[in-house]
Amino acid sequence: MSESFDTEVGANGAEILEVLSRYWGFRELRPLQQEAIEANLEGRDSLLVLPTGGGKSLTYQLPAMVRSSLDVVISPLVALMKDQVDALTTSGIPAVAYQGGLTATERRRIREELADGRYRLLFLSPEMLLGSSMPGFLRTLGVRTVAIDEAHCISQWGHDFRPEYRQLSGLRDLLPGTALHACTATATPRVREDILHQLQLRDPQVLVGSFDRPNLTYRIRAREQRKQQILEEVRRHPGGAVIIYALSRRDTEQIAEGLREQGVSAAFYHAGLSREDRDEVQEAFTREHIDVVVATVAFGMGIDRSNVRAVVHAAMPRSIEHYQQETGRAGRDGDPAECVLLHSYADVERWRALSERSFNEAMGSSEDPAALEQAYRSQLRLLEDMNALATGATCRHRALVEYFGQAYPHERCGACDVCLGEVDLLEDSTTVGRKVLSCVARVEGRFGVQHVADVLCGSDTEMIRRCRHHELSTHGLLKDLSRSAVSNLVHQLIEQGWLTRTPGDRPIVQLNDRSGALLRGEVEISLLRPPSGRARRTSAAEEASWTDVDRGLFESLRSLRKRIADEIGKPPYVVFPDTTLRAMARHRPSTKDTLSLIRGVGDKKLRTYGPRFLAAMDDWDREHGGGRDLELAAS
Ligand code: ADP
Ligand code: ZN
Repeated sequence: MSESFDTEVGANGAEILEVLSRYWGFRELRPLQQEAIEANLEGRDSLLVLPTGGGKSLTYQLPAMVRSSLDVVISPLVALMKDQVDALTTSGIPAVAYQGGLTATERRRIREELADGRYRLLFLSPEMLLGSSMPGFLRTLGVRTVAIDEAHCISQWGHDFRPEYRQLSGLRDLLPGTALHACTATATPRVREDILHQLQLRDPQVLVGSFDRPNLTYRIRAREQRKQQILEEVRRHPGGAVIIYALSRRDTEQIAEGLREQGVSAAFYHAGLSREDRDEVQEAFTREHIDVVVATVAFGMGIDRSNVRAVVHAAMPRSIEHYQQETGRAGRDGDPAECVLLHSYADVERWRALSERSFNEAMGSSEDPAALEQAYRSQLRLLEDMNALATGATCRHRALVEYFGQAYPHERCGACDVCLGEVDLLEDSTTVGRKVLSCVARVEGRFGVQHVADVLCGSDTEMIRRCRHHELSTHGLLKDLSRSAVSNLVHQLIEQGWLTRTPGDRPIVQLNDRSGALLRGEVEISLLRPPSGRARRTSAAEEASWTDVDRGLFESLRSLRKRIADEIGKPPYVVFPDTTLRAMARHRPSTKDTLSLIRGVGDKKLRTYGPRFLAAMDDWDREHGGGRDLELAAS
């Protein structure tokens, strides 16, 4: 997301840039931020769809500073609000969260301060906003705009429907003169339509950003030795934050335990923990007291740590939407980050079984079985799409972006296992495919994947002997490959639709109406070479961001940041994000003037923290040398 955006510096342009640099220390806007901010300043309704990390919050924070108005932000989680308010206050932007946990005295004080015009931004939960006296109070304050964060929560087609968000459809009538700005990272056209409709947006500016996250490197590996594979990923990011997602609560505990045995201090997080334990893990992770968390999907919306360097999926998520959202927590600071998915066909089975069970349970008491069945089918569909992505041989960036209905403009991304050449295509894919299909034909389509793989490998199992399958011409046809490799190939053929697998408890592999074309050699196919632990490469982006950065200096600035964060009782990113520290360690500014040229250093932070960071760089330079103000000139 480091891409810059050429903008016409229009009527508001100069002012926007001035405020952007003074309070945020940023020098340019990202794609669509300009348009969203302009719409906001003009008092026009808008819907902004940008992936996680795209920079949505700036678009509703900055206009309040330009206009010196009071703007309201609706957010679903109190934890998210607190983080934002902290970050804003530290940057010199007066913001406050008015939430359920406050005492009556605190509430009264905040209301008085609001009436005095003390704040630019007011954060509210939907319940608070729609509380009996709030709309009237907001009208007296002359609230200019209301931003609705995570707006997809209003739609039942989204993956995170919240009934309390549905109430927001009353907003338009309660605050008729106020412009509404909806923000979300969920892209499907259906959800988008629903948001426009529910919020009754008037002639809205609809802005949909690119779903590509170029700073993420995607890798999908076969899960072979889970413990070892996860350990390797964690060790690739020493000192960096890593989130590991697992399916079950037990898995999270086991994986964390396995990491601890190897000396990695890893915490686990799942919905079975007490509220306090969960808050503690989340807080420790945000404050950078711990770097590695193994979690179920319950670890999600509340975490606001922008320097997560890797997201590892120990198991496959149940949809591409989930995958996109979970991997989206990596590299929100725009620096390179890595996403690794350990895939196994067993995950597909596990999700399928789970969906089926909850479907059957729900059917027992359902008033609308047709709708339930519909939802169940669409779940299976989402699961298949995810599995196809994981077992496919196309560029991961392309596959993801195309799934969300956008065109991918590059031939190769340079940041996924496919484009980096870490996954190999089997040169003789078509021949191998035909061998597998003819074996399925020979065993008369009465057996499952494992048996077919056994026959092809030339194994000597009880079942093979009983069925006399060692006498088949296809027995041992792929004996150079391991059994797991062959079963991987069979699964690939099923996923690509050359074979069919029957549903139910004892699935059988069968030929289908597409099989003939392959068997007769009328089509060419591509299969991935079953993985065998090839070496990984570093993507250009991964290298670029560390170019000319002194890692030692970076680490020492990082520990200074941690000390300051602890002193003020705030998370470290509130002081400075990693990107800023890295730029300091690259350019080594020696004065306040040159320090202010570093991206992320605004006026207030320059005054508050500047001297200590400059002193730290002075110390470093005395001991290690290396020069100052490198490639930095006041422009
Ligand atoms: P979103 O809400 O879309 O997930 P955020 O608003 O949290 O994303 O922004 C993600 C990160 O990008 C934050 O660390 C933010 O400070 C940074 N950011 C936002 N806009 C800019 C910009 N114009 N230049 C540099 N960094 C930016
Ligand atoms: Zn690629």
